[in-house]
Amino acid sequence: MADLEFSNFIHNIIDKDLAEGKNGGTVYTRFPPEPNGYLHIGHAKSICLNFTTAQKYNGKCNLRFDDTNPVKEDTEYVESIEEDVKWLGFQWDKLLFASEYFDTMYECAVKLIKAGKAYVCDLSAEEIKAYRGTLTEPGKESPYRNRSIEENLDLFERMKNGEFPDGSKILRAKIDMASPNINMRDPALYRIAHATHHKTGDKWCIYPMYDFAHPIEDAIEGITHSICTLEFEDHRPLYDWVIRETGWENPPQQIEFARLNLTNTLMSKRYLKALVDNGDVNGWDDPRMPTIAGIRRRGYTPEAVRDFCERIGVAKANSTVDMGLLEHCVREDLKEKTLSKMVVMDPIKVTVRNYPEGQTEYVEVENSKKPEDGTRKVPFSRNLYVDRSDFMEVPVKGYFRLFPGNEVRFKGAYFLVCEEVVKDENGNVTELICTYDPETKCGGTFSGRKVKGTIHWVDAETAVPVTVNAYDSLLIEDEEGNQVMNPNSLTVYHAFAEPSVLELGEDERCQFFRHGYYIKDKKLSTETEPVYTRIVDLKSSWKKK
Ligand code: ATP
Ligand code: MG
Repeated sequence: MADLEFSNFIHNIIDKDLAEGKNGGTVYTRFPPEPNGYLHIGHAKSICLNFTTAQKYNGKCNLRFDDTNPVKEDTEYVESIEEDVKWLGFQWDKLLFASEYFDTMYECAVKLIKAGKAYVCDLSAEEIKAYRGTLTEPGKESPYRNRSIEENLDLFERMKNGEFPDGSKILRAKIDMASPNINMRDPALYRIAHATHHKTGDKWCIYPMYDFAHPIEDAIEGITHSICTLEFEDHRPLYDWVIRETGWENPPQQIEFARLNLTNTLMSKRYLKALVDNGDVNGWDDPRMPTIAGIRRRGYTPEAVRDFCERIGVAKANSTVDMGLLEHCVREDLKEKTLSKMVVMDPIKVTVRNYPEGQTEYVEVENSKKPEDGTRKVPFSRNLYVDRSDFMEVPVKGYFRLFPGNEVRFKGAYFLVCEEVVKDENGNVTELICTYDPETKCGGTFSGRKVKGTIHWVDAETAVPVTVNAYDSLLIEDEEGNQVMNPNSLTVYHAFAEPSVLELGEDERCQFFRHGYYIKDKKLSTETEPVYTRIVDLKSSWKKK
């Protein structure tokens, strides 16, 4: 993990709370996703923040599903979220569901009604909107605002009993229709929804609203610091109102931080679900998706994601982080952990004219830059492949790879010089005829002359055909600066790999020498042909400022 100093204003708040002896010196946080989709990298930031904050202060962190909206929620999402949190390397104290508190929430609502702080309102959604007022004008009181406590208790109970259709009534807090904060203008607390809930089935046909449910969930669990994103800042007075009016002894404190936004992608479960439903991507775990399932399949490591979340810090102002920083963290992590293989992405045939026909020798090639990683044996023969990008018939200035008459080192093997270029009838280069110098074998005593270029290659006879999927950003900017789907977000290569790729472990990431970092896509690979995913290329598009 990087040893930079990260700003975290939330930890400053907690330090102060602890110094003042608040909450009996404890820190209890929670990560509260709604199970209405797969988690994305933005959620990873919230997960890291909540869990590492608890760790830092010897506290606890719950995973709590905020499952108060039955229509959009599903157990598939619950399971994926648990998997994602574990994959990131965190273990929750308790696994909880907001729906387990529906009875308590109902009692809290009844308590508010009895205290004259809540009422049943029959206005339609449009009317409520019209009555709400604007930022500059106060709202108007509902004609149902002054119903008696008895009538409200009766109506609320009948709402619960299923006597009224969806949308016909809501329970509202009675606060202040003239409040400068629109959230305080008699907000909705409960709505009617005749829907089957993934946990509670048909037990309930009324469901609490987020602003009512969330503070109660926090209070029930004894959460001390309820960390959420900035858009809830204006809801904090309502959060505090609910806690106060429903009477909790140790009020949790809501603290807001800025959402993570990343360039060239979108982070909202709703939007990502639309991509999946439209077939724009191949499922939630498509390697182009910014979902945790997607980046996991892409080959990103949990260490890299945690490092990224720490480096971006925790801020109070919204900003957009360059995707290049996440890729940088992935490279930093993988460069320490991977072995190198030679893979030719776009093959051109090489014939080594002076190498004996039918002969194969094994040359020793280093597994990585670290001597302790050792070497492997790679077959070399008269028939090889090199990458098309490593040849130029007419070289540009500073090009040190293959061109007619030029000598280069074939990694781990010999110096070869390109003698002749074979073309098809359309003028496309189909084969390079080369000669090798037997004196120049790598690891030997040869010190005669130097070459400027080293290129990778594979032996044609033993090469393993592999498909390589190189993914690019899901979104790009069009001429008007709008984010649109990138039509070239996937490039497929039919590549040749040295035989030792078959020895890699199932989940073992590796470097394809001079190309980037790769992982086998278990979903797409077949018995006969492995499919590799490019995790990230080698060049860094991100410069340290
Ligand atoms: P989405 O719009 O993608 O559904 P959400 O905020 O509605 O996001 P929740 O499941 O309610 O998703 O979020 C769980 C937690 O993750 C919340 O505390 C939320 O604030 C946090 N979170 C969601 N998106 C981000 C983000 N981009 N950056 C940081 N935290 C986020
Ligand atoms: Mg949400």
